[in-house]
Amino acid sequence: MGNSSVLVVDDSPMFLQVVTRRLAEEVDAEVVAAVSLRAAQTAMAERRFDVALLDLNLPDAPGGEVVDLALAHHIPAIVFAGDCSEQTRSRLWAKRIVDYVVKEGEESLNYAVRLVRRILRNRQVAVLVVDDSATVRHMLAEMLAVHCFTVLEAADGSEGLRLLAEHPNVRLVITDYEMPQMNGVRLVQAARGLYPKEELAIIGISGHEQKDLSARFLKSGANDFLHKPFSAEELYCRITQNLDLLEYIRTIRDLSEKDMLTGLANRRYFFAHGSQLLAKAQERQEPVYVAMLDLDHFKRVNDQYGHEAGDAVLRHLGTMLLRHFGGEQALPARLGGEEFAVLFVGVTDVAARVEAFRAELAATPVNAPGGSVPVTVSIGVCGLPGQNLERHLACADQLLYRAKHRGRNRVEMGASPQKMDTGKE
Ligand code: GH3
Ligand code: MG
Ligand code: MG
Ligand code: MG
Repeated sequence: MGNSSVLVVDDSPMFLQVVTRRLAEEVDAEVVAAVSLRAAQTAMAERRFDVALLDLNLPDAPGGEVVDLALAHHIPAIVFAGDCSEQTRSRLWAKRIVDYVVKEGEESLNYAVRLVRRILRNRQVAVLVVDDSATVRHMLAEMLAVHCFTVLEAADGSEGLRLLAEHPNVRLVITDYEMPQMNGVRLVQAARGLYPKEELAIIGISGHEQKDLSARFLKSGANDFLHKPFSAEELYCRITQNLDLLEYIRTIRDLSEKDMLTGLANRRYFFAHGSQLLAKAQERQEPVYVAMLDLDHFKRVNDQYGHEAGDAVLRHLGTMLLRHFGGEQALPARLGGEEFAVLFVGVTDVAARVEAFRAELAATPVNAPGGSVPVTVSIGVCGLPGQNLERHLACADQLLYRAKHRGRNRVEMGASPQKMDTGKE
């Protein structure tokens, strides 16, 4: 999202300043401010915008002309203005604006800022619309396109299920109830076999008379339900709310599973998830290896270059571990301090890959505040058929000790407990 850009048009310089500052702080995008229709015209002629926050009343455009200007440039338009007549509002909604936010107090500004962020993120989000009526499907698809979603369409539950399996970037399903082949409730039940509620949001919709339908959708695993007919505004609110919730859950999960400095898995996740990976690999009779890594003389790095440089080295190591061992067959983690581990499942050339990692790290000094820092790492690697993760780690740790003892910046490999010694030769 780094290259996104937001246009804010308002004739109050004070208001522009406040909004621009909030957006700069909370949204990863470049923000351009314009005080008039003319200034907005100039800005739009010069560059492309991903979304615009627009005031309806400008000195040189008192009738909301700036909205037409933005829409003519295909810029998703959020109207952020004072309250206006019912008639003006419905005229605006008919033009396919993103939203109308009434300027009233702090919370409306919070809402507008969150909405801008949502619209920019929606570009990466696919939504699946499932309805047997082509008319309803197209109407929904058009509404979703206004909010910058990528839209997939299916005419019944079974087609929807197939598309869902084929497109892992689908974060939201909007489904009708009554459809041939497979109805909406059955689709929800089947979809839950693929993705849990906190990874895929499902909103059921129906105009059906059946009173218990919303409860049936929800009990089958839907996140929300909408009765037909609904307004665009209502649909958008539900969608935004559900997707925001999914992202909050993702953030909280990241916080509990990841090490914040390096972005690698943390110790807790390494043991929990790693034990499962190891057990599955052993069931399939695939080779399992565990590597333990420890930076050499890292205390000296902190002493010589400062703690921040030390942190930069740790981040560098994390980035390199992800680049070398980021695939499905390896789980790199920061166990704590300057100690790292990698679990390998189903990999046969572990020795060569770990040695390539060590050599590359040793050959590339880290660009850190305070200077270019040369770093090396000592590594112990072992594979113990039939043993659990704890035993693997204990063994790798002994081999790591041996690597330190034998001069650091080296890999010690042990294939089985018999072949190992204690390192105290
Ligand atoms: P050896 O080669 O024997 O491993 O020597 P060492 O200096 O790397 O080992 P030692 O265990 O004596 O020191 C580890 C250092 O790692 C001490 C601690 O200050 C530093 N450290 C641990 N966590 C962090 C961190 O998050 N950031 C920074 N900058 N330093 C850390
Ligand atoms: Mg139907
Ligand atoms: Mg250490
Ligand atoms: Mg160390």
